[in-house]
Amino acid sequence: MNVTQTFAGTVCNQCNFKVAEVLQGCPSCGSESTEKVNLKENGTIHSFTVVYVGFGHMANRAPYVLAIVQTEENVKLTTVIEGVSDFNAVKIGDKVRFKGMDDKIGPVFQY
Ligand SMILES: [Zn+2]
Repeated sequence: MNVTQTFAGTVCNQCNFKVAEVLQGCPSCGSESTEKVNLKENGTIHSFTVVYVGFGHMANRAPYVLAIVQTEENVKLTTVIEGVSDFNAVKIGDKVRFKGMDDKIGPVFQY
């Protein structure tokens, strides 16, 4: 059984702007009429970089892939792609999926 996991985002009732965070107000139009939504688990790497020197709580994680992932709803979020063994194999356009919530960085993704 493949359980579909989702993570929370916010959709604006005024302008339909979606963001991959739970927020009280819309970051696009400022409306306070927003709703919490579950975003789909599948995403695409829109942009990425490999971080070799992490700072603060990310120091022990390095090296890691820091990516902007675009979800099926066209929401972009900055996230970490976990479990990458070959950094040279990571490409823009790669399909990734939501892995889980990290206490410190929020949603993380995997191949
Ligand atoms: Zn809005």
